[in-house]
Amino acid sequence: MKKILSTLLIATMTFSLLTGCSSKENTNQNTENKPAEKDTIVMYTNAEFAPFEYFEGEKIVGVDADIAAEIAKDLGKELKIEHINFDSLVPSLVEGKADFVAAGMTITPERQEEVDFSIAYVESIQNIISKNDAPIKTMDDLKGKKIGVQLGTTGDLAISDSINLDDGDLKGSGSEVVQYKNALEAAQDLLAGRLDAVVIDKLPAEEIVKNNSSLSSVIFGDISESYGIAVQKGNKELLDSINKTLQRLMDEGKVEEFITNHSE
Ligand code: GLN
Repeated sequence: MKKILSTLLIATMTFSLLTGCSSKENTNQNTENKPAEKDTIVMYTNAEFAPFEYFEGEKIVGVDADIAAEIAKDLGKELKIEHINFDSLVPSLVEGKADFVAAGMTITPERQEEVDFSIAYVESIQNIISKNDAPIKTMDDLKGKKIGVQLGTTGDLAISDSINLDDGDLKGSGSEVVQYKNALEAAQDLLAGRLDAVVIDKLPAEEIVKNNSSLSSVIFGDISESYGIAVQKGNKELLDSINKTLQRLMDEGKVEEFITNHSE
């Protein structure tokens, strides 16, 4: 009996030593305020951009969600994904609400002033979607037309600049840009005849066209865009880890595989 008691005592002491030790470690980490040391890692996205992110019921899935799961796995953390409007993603990251943003987001010099980007993991280009019975294929075709875009995206910038800048191709042509919260709403207005065209990234455009037989999409312009994952400026530790995961996934052909899986 005595022996059992003392064994129990040692076991309890060992346990409290262990827990005491780990809680001390946690306290230290918290005072150092390292976001990467938390148990959960938070990703912000705009889940209206299939195949990169979209809702499957309540769940956010897609290429970026698959990549994020690998990032979290490599960090040994739980992943939490939150959906917000695309144009709020960078400001929210700057405010520290998320650890990273993965949203088919193009690396641009303007965004690089606010956040740091990972290595590029996908190359893209803008596409024009139009109705088969009123096809629009070129910048010239867009003259005088009503064009839908997703607010705050590179497609929005390309069209808005063409209309508003003095040397813009659409300047003074009577073209009008309509900014939507997401491209799906824009596509609906295109189908309803309230727009003549929608300008968005290639794969999401192809995804929309696939689901609407009266629409087609063509490549618009020749500016290639690279997608990157964004972190808060200076969060080198997380960025290094994200880059490592991205490089591994690209070397293993996984990014391509995720794209194929979510484009079916
Ligand atoms: N690649 C585009 C951009 O970064 C669109 C991204 C999106 O709509 N999710 O602006």
